[in-house]
Amino acid sequence: THPLYGVLPRPCRALVLLNPQSGAGRALEDFQAVVQPMLADADITPTIFVTERAHHAQEKVRDEELSQWDVLVVMSGDGLLHEVLNGLMERPDWEEALQTPLCILPGGSGNALAASINYYAGNDHVAKKKLLTNCTFILCKGLHAPMDLVSLSTASGKRFFSFLGFGWGFIADVDIDSEKYRRLGNARFTLGTLQCLVRLRVYQGRLSYLPAANEPGTPMDSKASSHQAKAAAGTEALSGHGALPADTLLVPLGQPVPPHWVVVPEEEFVCVYAIYQSHLGTNLLMAPTARLHDGCIHLFYVGAGISRVALLKIFLAMGRGTHMDLNCPHLHCVPVRAFRLEPRGSAGIMTVDGEALACEPVQGQIHSNMCHVVTG
Ligand code: ADP
Ligand code: MG
Repeated sequence: THPLYGVLPRPCRALVLLNPQSGAGRALEDFQAVVQPMLADADITPTIFVTERAHHAQEKVRDEELSQWDVLVVMSGDGLLHEVLNGLMERPDWEEALQTPLCILPGGSGNALAASINYYAGNDHVAKKKLLTNCTFILCKGLHAPMDLVSLSTASGKRFFSFLGFGWGFIADVDIDSEKYRRLGNARFTLGTLQCLVRLRVYQGRLSYLPAANEPGTPMDSKASSHQAKAAAGTEALSGHGALPADTLLVPLGQPVPPHWVVVPEEEFVCVYAIYQSHLGTNLLMAPTARLHDGCIHLFYVGAGISRVALLKIFLAMGRGTHMDLNCPHLHCVPVRAFRLEPRGSAGIMTVDGEALACEPVQGQIHSNMCHVVTG
């Protein structure tokens, strides 16, 4: 078995996956100017792999001989780390592959994990070059810790692993609509938020969840979970080596959610966002209590009927993480282990770690301590 916590060896061999198009398009320059001199002092040797297209990094890590690297560094936004993670999960030896520590250096316009790690480390809130410097310093120190992942499955049979969040409605629309403003860097989200506020709309669907308080193994659901654990064990025995981790908290999307789940009474939403890190963006502290491995999905939803002004106030307060103090009756936040969202109709967009996904029924559950990330 592998230890949960560790420190990178010296000398340290780092594969750096860098998207030259991310953010304002300066990732390569910033890497050479800011990151490389610091790594040299820390005895970390980078080998740079510049991506040429979407999915390039995913294919690279899927086929890579990983024993030659001590750490996989992503210099881009959250989207490229999402690719890398899912590329690792496509390997027959994914379990071993996930032991390679991952590191994020903010080079994109959406750098939520980098901002979260900077926050967990107790650093002041910073952005841009200062955030990059802080994250590079964290890499130079080389401590790593486990991180939870969320396994997401869709009605059409897709499966993703996600480290940041899943969204539908308002925030997902801002995320994807604002991609055309990527060159503005993080400011793309401010502009996108204002635009989406103007044409605020309502999204219909059903949201259900397994509350975190309702631990598997408690008398109330021990029967269900032992039954599901057996079913899961059976799957693994059948598929043998390489079988993906079973979602023991979920039942198939065609079936009703288990009786100990909560079904949200509202069926009209402005936004649903399941986040598992503290930050939604560099300036958005959405889940101040979230940590890398708290075993928890922080499920936020905003019911229909909220005014534009109230929604804007929430986003402004999120800059400091004080949005729950507003006591807005439309804004809800629940810690959960699993959730299901069944949108009515397929109009609109969903996002996973900031990447677009066609709108369809989705469910997901947390998997504790699945991978390792460099952290303060
Ligand atoms: P940003 O934060 O700016 O959105 P991301 O890291 O999220 O940056 O990357 C955005 C998208 O760019 C990802 O979907 C990724 O697959 C894609 N991508 C990676 N390399 C390239 C490239 N060379 N050209 C265009 N797109 C790329
Ligand atoms: Mg992105």
